Amino acid sequence: MKSAATLSVPFNRPYTTGSELTYIEEAIEGAHLSGNGPFSARCSEFLEGLLGADRVLLTHSGTGALELASLLAGVVPGDEVVMPSFTFSSTATAFVLRGATPVFVDVREDTLNLDESLVEAVITDQTRALVPVHYGGVACAMDHLTSIAGDHGLHVIEDAAHALGATLDGRPLGTYGELAALSFHETKNVICGEGGALVVNDSALSERAEILHEKGTNRRAFFRGQVDKYTWIDTGSSFPASELSAAFLWAQLERFEWLNEQRIAVWERYHEAFEPLELGGVLRRPVVPPGARHNAHLYYLLLPNEDRRQQLIDELGRRQIASVFHYVPLHSSPAGRRFGRSAGELPVTADVSSRLVRLPLWVGMTDAQIDHVTDSVQQILG
Ligand SMILES: *Cc1c(COP(=O)(O)O)cnc(C)c1O
Repeated sequence: MKSAATLSVPFNRPYTTGSELTYIEEAIEGAHLSGNGPFSARCSEFLEGLLGADRVLLTHSGTGALELASLLAGVVPGDEVVMPSFTFSSTATAFVLRGATPVFVDVREDTLNLDESLVEAVITDQTRALVPVHYGGVACAMDHLTSIAGDHGLHVIEDAAHALGATLDGRPLGTYGELAALSFHETKNVICGEGGALVVNDSALSERAEILHEKGTNRRAFFRGQVDKYTWIDTGSSFPASELSAAFLWAQLERFEWLNEQRIAVWERYHEAFEPLELGGVLRRPVVPPGARHNAHLYYLLLPNEDRRQQLIDELGRRQIASVFHYVPLHSSPAGRRFGRSAGELPVTADVSSRLVRLPLWVGMTDAQIDHVTDSVQQILG
């Protein structure tokens, strides 16, 4: 094989805008390296403006943001928290850490998001919160879910780890629940290595969010001159992101629109290229419901069965293209069985998780790389 003939396409490559080092140097010169410094403030203000949120607190991870949300929502041992099984472990661990039981519900066949029509049936006196996950940045049915939550007095905590920049009926995802978690892990749309943010939409929770975020102290209020003593006043943990991470993140947020546009361009090329294969019945493409605007966090294909998926992954691999499947359903994982409860068999989750494959999607993919992926999938499946 000629070396030029095979173009390698990694599954993900973290993109840097070029300003990261400049801002990190600025942070070093400013001699504030711990959390909640000037870069953190800039990132928080930007996100508060973008989302129209009451408060956004940077955290060391998306997982940390979910854990902080769980603490703030007052989740206690014995509580039940309703969530999809088709998600990352952190969605569940944040609540298991507080002694709660995750209750796994099936997903919708179209969006692979929590099936809102199944939620009401699993609500008990112990149910404390609903945790929808916007898979791939495609919105859950938030109007329906927030109305169920309202009827039953439940918190809504959005796992918006995939969803920064995506909207539903023009409203940003991450602003439907009282609380939402964002992630800036290197696999997400906007990155800083490891990082995240808690979005607080209910202003009644903002002051306590700041305290729990800063190890249970009133440090933030003290530095604003609102209290004259800096002291321990509540529970909490060390949730802030370092200023070095925030400096990196600022270099990304400055180019936020552009970063999402680049991803959307790749997503749309895939979507167009695979339409004939979908019409021919050999695969299914992602579904974006009316009113939802996604952020091209990921692009997946659903193959007819697990064998066909493995065949595609293997054959793409031979062409130097990395493609991967996604979540092992939490309800069938060892810890999910130990800590959680599932609402029946979850047939859609079991089915789609065995047939789904994700294609490379990252900022900086060349036209030749995108063509290599689309041509290869067409050749293999066509
Ligand atoms: C990435 C991710 C998280 C966790 O975010 P980290 O920043 O990696 O801790 C939580 N939920 C979902 C759905 C994710 O994809």
